[in-house]
Amino acid sequence: MSAPDGWEAVIGLEVHCELRTRTKLFCGCRNAFGSEPNTNVCPVCLGLPGSLPVLNEAAVELAMRIGAALHCEIRPSVFHRKNYFYPDMPKDYQVSQYDEPINVDGYLDLPDGSRVGIVRAHIEEDTGKTSHVGETGRIHGAGHALVDYNRAGVPLVEIVSAPDITTAAQARLYAAELRAILVASGASDGRMEEGSMRVDANVSVRRVGDVRLGTRCEVKNLNSLRSLARAVDHEIERQVGVIESGGVVEQQTRHWDEDQGCTVALRSKEEAFDYRYFPEPDLVPLDPDAAWIERVRASLGPMPADRRAAVTALLGGGEPSDARSDQVATVVELGLDHLVTAAASAGVDPALALARTANEAAAAAEAARSVDPAAYAALLQMEQRQELSATQAKAVLAELMAGGGDPAQIAGRMGFEALAADSLAEVVAAVVAEHPDEWERFCGGEAKLAGFFTGHVMRRTQGKANGKAVAAELARLRG
Ligand code: ADP
Ligand code: MG
Ligand code: ZN
Repeated sequence: MSAPDGWEAVIGLEVHCELRTRTKLFCGCRNAFGSEPNTNVCPVCLGLPGSLPVLNEAAVELAMRIGAALHCEIRPSVFHRKNYFYPDMPKDYQVSQYDEPINVDGYLDLPDGSRVGIVRAHIEEDTGKTSHVGETGRIHGAGHALVDYNRAGVPLVEIVSAPDITTAAQARLYAAELRAILVASGASDGRMEEGSMRVDANVSVRRVGDVRLGTRCEVKNLNSLRSLARAVDHEIERQVGVIESGGVVEQQTRHWDEDQGCTVALRSKEEAFDYRYFPEPDLVPLDPDAAWIERVRASLGPMPADRRAAVTALLGGGEPSDARSDQVATVVELGLDHLVTAAASAGVDPALALARTANEAAAAAEAARSVDPAAYAALLQMEQRQELSATQAKAVLAELMAGGGDPAQIAGRMGFEALAADSLAEVVAAVVAEHPDEWERFCGGEAKLAGFFTGHVMRRTQGKANGKAVAAELARLRG
């Protein structure tokens, strides 16, 4: 869906991502998801008087990796206090970077060929987490609230896009590509469902041809790519409706209600002066030297777009089909493309390598990532040489992912001796001889009877026959 006729939307996304550090931004507490509440806390992240922050070097390095991956200028930066009162923020201010952020002026290229500007990607600390206890889980109607400070002080990078996005689909593409980049750069695990990547969408509308930007609303609580797209579409429609019925859009922060499928006003937008920003007196300015920045840029490795191009190139021939492109995107997104490359360079048909990786390996991606690429390649070679049927190869792969080992030994242990070509020919000949009527019809052009013969051969060989080899033998007999 795009904006109603005569209207266009302008969208800018703010993405918060939690960095994959061992410890928090300013203290030695563990940065971990899912711990028992209030167990990863100390005087620093609880904001107790007299405690002092010490900046985590690993967090700075990951922030620089994000900047490098987004083609940003990496600059000297200053930490500020952003003052506001909220019970999940024990210090009553959040340490963030304000007018001198570490990364500025980058861009992100999307798979559809468009480019979205990156205004800034700065470092800040996460807040704690409040749960409202009551029927709705929301603040209204809650009996009381519980607060967990494990997340307080977890390092974040906030990535602010330019208002270059014009549709919900493009917003979704941007968030997906950004997530892939965050994961590929090692900066974040990108898990939206665990809140390690959180997206806020700024949306405004204007009449086509208008050069001035309309008033925007910022939509929060987008926990999935699907919610992001739905919320943006809804917000575009809502704002056009407001203006067309003679009203004006008010600048607001709005909440996406997934169940109702609509956005709800939370508060009118706060201004920078509401936060009384001032430089954090307990931290010195951050000024990474040129050699460090260079090291970070050099260590980045290929980004998802390059990796997709590399896998696509293996497949040869021009533009891949949509289905193929989806498979390529999947293996790169899940960090399994090295398996495709390893198999292909061992001589496995790249299409087979891609299919097995995008389906069977992807279904257990975590386990697949730890599979030895050489063993993976060896398994697919066995399948290609028809020493294993597709079904057998999948079974061996499941074992390989579960416990590693040598695929030939696993196949032997599972009783998957290959059916020698001559004995396969014997079985096929016998099945054909027992079903003369079906054979005649098959020879007369009833192609679907191939399945009938294959089924019989499979039963007789307890599934050891290779489907393709059976088909080839049937074709040979038919002449
Ligand atoms: P703030 O400081 O209030 O968060 P910014 O100027 O930093 O505001 O912008 C925040 C986000 O809003 C950016 O992603 C930006 O691209 C987007 N944005 C700014 N103006 C508009 C607009 N008129 N319509 C849609 N998005 C906008
Ligand atoms: Mg903002
Ligand atoms: Zn702490």
